[in-house]
Amino acid sequence: MEYPTWTGSEPCQSVGGDLWFPDDPFEAKTLNVVAAEVCQSCPSIEPCAEWGIAHEKHGVWGGLNPAQRIFIRARRGIHVDTPNHTAWIESIAGLRATGGAA
Ligand code: SF4
Repeated sequence: MEYPTWTGSEPCQSVGGDLWFPDDPFEAKTLNVVAAEVCQSCPSIEPCAEWGIAHEKHGVWGGLNPAQRIFIRARRGIHVDTPNHTAWIESIAGLRATGGAA
């Protein structure tokens, strides 16, 4: 599976990555719910969710929180060794720096 190609209009680019990858574990549950709601209007929700299911242990991907992805992985028989959200953060930071051009 290839890393998703972002369109430049994903809501997480303008809202900020802290909502998707909260630092404070006590706020994570609430922030994950808000992030998942924002994801519902995203044009990339499907590829983002599939990438997250296949590769990511942390954060909200395609509207799915870590616990939801664990459940889906168990049903699909997928094992994730290492988190890869650094690639997402770098990708979004790059889109922000270029004004959305991929
Ligand atoms: S679905 Fe993925 S790309 Fe879209 S807003 Fe949510 S985290 Fe960002």
